[in-house]
Amino acid sequence: MIIGRFAPSPTGVLHLGNLRTALASWLSVRAAGGRWVIRMEDVDGPRCHREVGELQLGDLAALGLHSDESPVLWQSDRSQAYREALAELRAAGRLYPCTCTRRDLQSLASAPHAEEGLRPYPGHCRTRIWGGAEAAALGSPQSRAGGPGGLRPESGQAVPPEDIAALRLRLPRGVVAWADRLRGPQADDPATLTGDPLLFRRDGCFAYHLAVVVDDGAQGVTEVVRGADLASVTATQIRLQEALGLPHPTYAHLGLVTAPDGSRLGKRAGALGLEALVARGLDIDAVVGWLGWSLGCQATPAPCRAEALIAAFSWDRVPQGDVAIPVAWCG
Ligand code: GLU
Repeated sequence: MIIGRFAPSPTGVLHLGNLRTALASWLSVRAAGGRWVIRMEDVDGPRCHREVGELQLGDLAALGLHSDESPVLWQSDRSQAYREALAELRAAGRLYPCTCTRRDLQSLASAPHAEEGLRPYPGHCRTRIWGGAEAAALGSPQSRAGGPGGLRPESGQAVPPEDIAALRLRLPRGVVAWADRLRGPQADDPATLTGDPLLFRRDGCFAYHLAVVVDDGAQGVTEVVRGADLASVTATQIRLQEALGLPHPTYAHLGLVTAPDGSRLGKRAGALGLEALVARGLDIDAVVGWLGWSLGCQATPAPCRAEALIAAFSWDRVPQGDVAIPVAWCG
């Protein structure tokens, strides 16, 4: 059975690009009679807010998209699973402590993707020897505070920040071949895209790559639908799945929703959430109808409910490229 998921980070309002991804993932699963789950990716403690996540769930429900798993999984409740995964990787000799600061990384970066803001980690700390302090990330489960941060040693005392080391996965060499449902066969060398990924951060938070891979595995996810901006990290996540002995889901990376002139929405995207659109007089069915049209489910953006799109959904009809929002929606 196909199991798909939508995994937003509760850092801000879901914009049209997020809603389009959610609908595509839901339609793909519903069309195949599978199971669809929502997962709240609030692992990045300081940037995530529970209330924002609740609002996101409300927007998805308003579109008719409900998780088949109840309650919804929040990553801030998953520290124990992430710690176990780190311990497994540590035992297999795949982890190393990294003491590079943001400034070190900026001065080390001379990589091909630096101009796009994606800088592969250059492997500066790869040869670093494992010391006592790194155990702070892996210490005994009973003594943990429970949240993504707040790691505590046996004594129950907070670990001083200088004693928490970041942890990275040592990637094996080589190109990863994977298939994108929309873009076809891919061959990526993760060393040139992300470099050795960060799995545990110096501020005590488990990192995105670890959480996403562990949870896709735990929830049995077989199909990942997400934005094209994450295509470049897929090979790295496949390597992490291999290291943890987890199966590989299939992937589809959707084009972005852009401004009417095709430019990136950037910060303007925040003003294109469901609530803002409805406040501007749009009907929810009009938003769903437009999203369905943009996914190739109907010939015109006629208003409709999400269920009405299921029968017409097919990955063969989903356009590969970006899609521009209607001028009238820009307010
Ligand atoms: N939580 C991530 C985001 O909102 C998505 C992760 C994923 O789909 O793999 O950007």
